[in-house]
Amino acid sequence: MESTGCPIGVGAGLVLHAPRADFRDPPPKPSERDLPTNQSARAKMADALPLRPGASAGPAPGRARRGRPLSSRPPRRGPRVAAAAASDVQRARRAPGQHLKQISTVYKFGGSSVATADHMVEVADIVCSFPDELPCVVLSAMGKTTNQLLAAADMALSVEPEAVESIPPVRDIEALHAAAVADLGVDQATRDQVGRLLAELKMLLRGISIVQECTPRARDSVISFGERLSTRIFAALLAREGVPARQYDAWDLGFVSTDEFTNADVIFDATLPAIRRTLSERDAPGEVPVVTGFLAHGANTGAITTLGRGGSDLTATTIGAALGVDEVQVWKDVDGVLTTDPRVVPGAYTVPLLTFDEATELAYYGAQVLHPQAMRPARLADGELGVRVKNSYNRYATGTLIKPWRDMSLALLTSIVLKRDVTLVDIASTRMVGQHGFLARVFEMFGRAGISVDVVATSEVSVSTTLDVNRLWTHKVVDSELQQFAAGFEGWADVTFRRGSAIVSLICNVERSSEILERVFRTLGAEGINVQMISQGASKTNISFLINDSEAERAARALHQAFFGQ
Ligand code: ADP
Ligand code: ASP
Ligand code: MG
Repeated sequence: MESTGCPIGVGAGLVLHAPRADFRDPPPKPSERDLPTNQSARAKMADALPLRPGASAGPAPGRARRGRPLSSRPPRRGPRVAAAAASDVQRARRAPGQHLKQISTVYKFGGSSVATADHMVEVADIVCSFPDELPCVVLSAMGKTTNQLLAAADMALSVEPEAVESIPPVRDIEALHAAAVADLGVDQATRDQVGRLLAELKMLLRGISIVQECTPRARDSVISFGERLSTRIFAALLAREGVPARQYDAWDLGFVSTDEFTNADVIFDATLPAIRRTLSERDAPGEVPVVTGFLAHGANTGAITTLGRGGSDLTATTIGAALGVDEVQVWKDVDGVLTTDPRVVPGAYTVPLLTFDEATELAYYGAQVLHPQAMRPARLADGELGVRVKNSYNRYATGTLIKPWRDMSLALLTSIVLKRDVTLVDIASTRMVGQHGFLARVFEMFGRAGISVDVVATSEVSVSTTLDVNRLWTHKVVDSELQQFAAGFEGWADVTFRRGSAIVSLICNVERSSEILERVFRTLGAEGINVQMISQGASKTNISFLINDSEAERAARALHQAFFGQ
């Protein structure tokens, strides 16, 4: 094992796991692949689409083409959706679950599922293709809108107030939503609302530019516009197609959170009964609620908060727990939770069953597919609630079902997760003798700096731990901050940092750890990849180890081949 300058790794004293929330910016989808879609459903949808008054049949740059497979790429050139419709005669859809008195399921659709007008039409079709369910629909912002809003908030700091309108991400957001309302032919009231929200967004950005400050609170307000826009447009689309629907901002439903802007925690004691009340006391029980994911109101400030990147998953499971439904379905652009990130190993395949613990560890260690907190409400529901990850582009595939328990007798390795760009920090006591309270002091320093750690190894007089420098978009623990952090140890410990590591986490049956580790070391040994630190034992579902970041993808591919044969 490679030396890291202090005693760490297997047999180096106490080895702990400290999983933590990690809400880094999702990386862009790498492969611009066309995903399979249901062609006959698409054709049916084409007939059902409304004609936008005055729309021309000519090509409109940046619009998705109707009747073609959807993809996760930006919209292509092609005729406008509405322009290509045969007529403006509305063909009503069969609204789902109208025989039911209560909401029976919660669907959550992520940004990639509602990236364009065309994608929204597909989602409306999915909602209607399960007629036995009366769903509550939770939506993310369209496509990359959240990233663009974040970029706009940053850029507003460096332009004149009157120039915020021409910031490229602001233009893109306006163009995307204007195209969606036009292409979907939504009603005038919704168009007005969308217009008002876009105007309000620009006012807020102007304010940020004027005061030359973007606080986390202001940033949360800025990024809330994504979900507030997408849900209004989608609810109007459903209504236009004959499905009774009503848009809700999460706070109208009862979502209350802590006031930790950009990474707030849902306060379940207040939120669950409020949601239950709001949704059970509706005048029109057959209406499909369309709810903003990711957002809440802070309990003390009353201001808009966000639940951490990818937080719409948590919104959906919270609503599911409040309503006591059997299943929350989280719809993505992949066939469920896979054996590893498909962008690293294209041959990764679906894991049919996972436990809440496994899904939580997987998310904590960086698998983008689920929000790390999403299982919390499901646990509150006393084992009654299952969470199913499904594919919007393969709607009848069963996906991955996540439950409190599964039979682990045959389980060996379930999934491989990579966390990239991790920093290793070694903290060695300068007094070089067994130090009563040394560890406590070190962790107090982490606590004060607000730094969470992933993998920890200790000896009597030293601690080695990993830091994820990309953990929050507002507080990057980069060089200057690391140096500042190190200064706090002066006089009692030496601190050294090493950038450029990656954590490989194996979601596995830890009871078979010898077998797993034997295969891991044989595989990595054959690849010439050194393990710098390993953490095993504190978790029943996870073994993590540290390697060089530059070798991370090669390691994942080799391990996937060794355990899954592809
Ligand atoms: P959403 O559309 O809900 O925002 P995300 O883009 O956040 O969905 O998450 C889905 C993406 O997560 C997939 O497209 C895939 O690239 C990535 N991913 C990473 N690890 C995994 C994994 N183990 N299983 C499935 N998807 C994964
Ligand atoms: N729109 C938010 C994000 O991009 C929340 C979500 O998609 O779940 O992180
Ligand atoms: Mg997501």
